Amino acid sequence: MSMSFLSDVEAFYDLAVKDLALPTGVGEKIKVANATYTTRFGVRLRDRMFTFTGWRSAHSNHQSPAKGGIRYAPNCTVEEVEALAALMTYKCALVGVPYGGSKGALCLDPSDWTEAELEKITRRFAQEMIRHRFLDSANNVPAPDVGTNERTMMWIADEYKRLRPEDINALGCVTGKPLGGGGIEGRVEATGRGVQYAIRAFVDTPTLIKPLFEDARLFGKRVAIQGFGNVGAHAALFLSKEDGCKITSIIERDVVLTNPSGINVSDLIAHRDATGSIADFAGAACTSTPPEALTIDCDILIPAAVEGVINADIARRTPARLIVEAANGPCTFEAAKILDDRQIQVIPDLYANAGGVIVSYFEWVKNLGHMPFGLLERRYHEKGHRVLTSTIERTVGASLQWDEDASYLSGPTELDMVRSGLEEIMRRT
Ligand code: GLU
Repeated sequence: MSMSFLSDVEAFYDLAVKDLALPTGVGEKIKVANATYTTRFGVRLRDRMFTFTGWRSAHSNHQSPAKGGIRYAPNCTVEEVEALAALMTYKCALVGVPYGGSKGALCLDPSDWTEAELEKITRRFAQEMIRHRFLDSANNVPAPDVGTNERTMMWIADEYKRLRPEDINALGCVTGKPLGGGGIEGRVEATGRGVQYAIRAFVDTPTLIKPLFEDARLFGKRVAIQGFGNVGAHAALFLSKEDGCKITSIIERDVVLTNPSGINVSDLIAHRDATGSIADFAGAACTSTPPEALTIDCDILIPAAVEGVINADIARRTPARLIVEAANGPCTFEAAKILDDRQIQVIPDLYANAGGVIVSYFEWVKNLGHMPFGLLERRYHEKGHRVLTSTIERTVGASLQWDEDASYLSGPTELDMVRSGLEEIMRRT
């Protein structure tokens, strides 16, 4: 029986909370979303009315604002949004970014709409969130996610400024804005950069990586990446250019690219930007995507698209020794158990993809401080790197204590990361 994403996140949480000495009832309270707002609004487009359904869920306000992306995708559900919002709470707590967790979604396929239409829809969604106090720099601050980007965030910021001209902190109502509109250098690539830093931090912790690979260096490792959006493309670029990894496969919904000697990622990005797709790229063999694509031969598998793609079946069959959760929730609860039994190391999403929200925090601080950045930005990125390395030191230490009876040295798991986040929440409440 496959469990839903929300029950998977709750199952990880329940296990993590079990061994923590929380006061009675507190674990139950932290688990649930504080408030989830549903909106159904109409927009007049193409000479008729269209109704859109969206959500913004504030999972936790133990720190303000609550923070997290907004995704645009068909078939979103309220449970998915609540699961993603909960992951944001634990992620921010884990890496010590002083935010609660939130997430939003709008049920639509961005490719069905023109840019002008998307702007109209986004502005309308922003109006609803503002009216219901789910958008402002003090309470709830969105960011990009699947199907949204800098442009979407710019429309949201602009709509907010239009409706709340008296708010001196208007720019801080959303992060992931373009550079010219109050954004910060490095935010676009931040999540992919964080994935690279997270892998490096694991590789640099010899007790963790030794049982996985004979040769612990990243150089020459064969990497398969699922998803070539913002996160997947940047992770692929940095790992191949700076760490000597070979990107041997890129798996998208409709096409798989393979090249045993490594795909040239800059060329592929140029091809995608010119043609709108990674299909027909001359530098790799192109095939249509089989259902078992995620069992492709590789050393490191990086799911960088959506939740639930690594299920029990894939977990039993993947030849990868290391799985890096660049997406939110790509491994199901059942899969995580199987991967653990097979001694396949998973770098959990809470850690692996935290680079985005870390740099969002810098952007928000910049906005609230009314700072015209430049010089300071480089320092912030060094700080981002330190946040990730110190988190790994803390969680590796703690996971070894929690894991005393393990027959092999396993790295911190999703459970260790949730536990560490929970301890952080308890310290701050
Ligand atoms: N959507 C990203 C995430 O899932 C970024 C969130 C943010 O920057 O607030 O972590």
